[in-house]
Amino acid sequence: SDHRLSYPASPADMDWSDYFPAYFSKKRKRDETVEESGDHEDRPADAANDITLDTKKVEIADIGCGFGGLLISLAPTFPDTLILGMEIRTQVTAYVQDRITALRTQTQSKKSGDKADVPGGYQNIGIIRGNAMKFLPNFFEKHQLSKMFFCFPDPHFKTRKHKARIISYVRSFCLSLFGGAYDTDKETAMWTSPTLLCEYAYILRPGGIVYSITDVEDLHKWMAKHLDEHPMFERIPEEEQEEDVCVKIMRTDTEEGKKVERNKGSKWVACFRRIEEPI
Ligand code: SAM
Repeated sequence: SDHRLSYPASPADMDWSDYFPAYFSKKRKRDETVEESGDHEDRPADAANDITLDTKKVEIADIGCGFGGLLISLAPTFPDTLILGMEIRTQVTAYVQDRITALRTQTQSKKSGDKADVPGGYQNIGIIRGNAMKFLPNFFEKHQLSKMFFCFPDPHFKTRKHKARIISYVRSFCLSLFGGAYDTDKETAMWTSPTLLCEYAYILRPGGIVYSITDVEDLHKWMAKHLDEHPMFERIPEEEQEEDVCVKIMRTDTEEGKKVERNKGSKWVACFRRIEEPI
């Protein structure tokens, strides 16, 4: 639960070295400026050769990343960009961390000095346990992110029989990720706290993109409606959306997306651009 989550007081206090050891020195050492000591025992040899430490920032976030399929596919697509998955479940987070560690080991070149055989060598992806609803501005500063993904922020359901129970489950997921109540009943007033969308607009840079995908059409409409109504976001036209490599990856490579595929379900995509600051 939340009280067991650790999070930095501000983005400047975050020590990213545990998540991206190829890119960051330990914060304590950095602050003490003993960086030149050459003490990088936890960094892979390849990375030590050609990466300047402490210069990059996370730019892509996968919110509620689940088992990490999207992260792993995005890694070689954006080999020079740091990509972070945020997941609230402890065991799922640990599983994804193990997956990343194994991929890094497998792809690290045998001989020091050689390039890894997958662009980026999976050094550019990391997973953190966190509640995206509460602590995002503690991790990311203003305009830090270029892309945020919300992939299947709903449970995958096998039978329509349990619809009532599932709707309340979906509602709690949406509350959790979007900070608003979701209801399929058109008579019930829908509402959303603009707070979370404002937070997303704050941490996304102008031109940055919110990607959403779900297999629940009503949820898709609900998410799109609230983003549409928000003054800081504009919908990306479908033709442009379909040309985006991230949309292709999001459709096929997340674990939930694969389940939906197997069950021949529909996938609903909506992408929104964070607009320039109004003058
Ligand atoms: N995005 C993944 C995919 O497409 O395969 C996982 C989808 S799964 C249905 C939704 C995920 O969101 C779950 O793993 C859940 O633990 C996570 N989640 C729900 N609320 C969250 C929150 N407030 N912060 C972080 N993760 C959350």
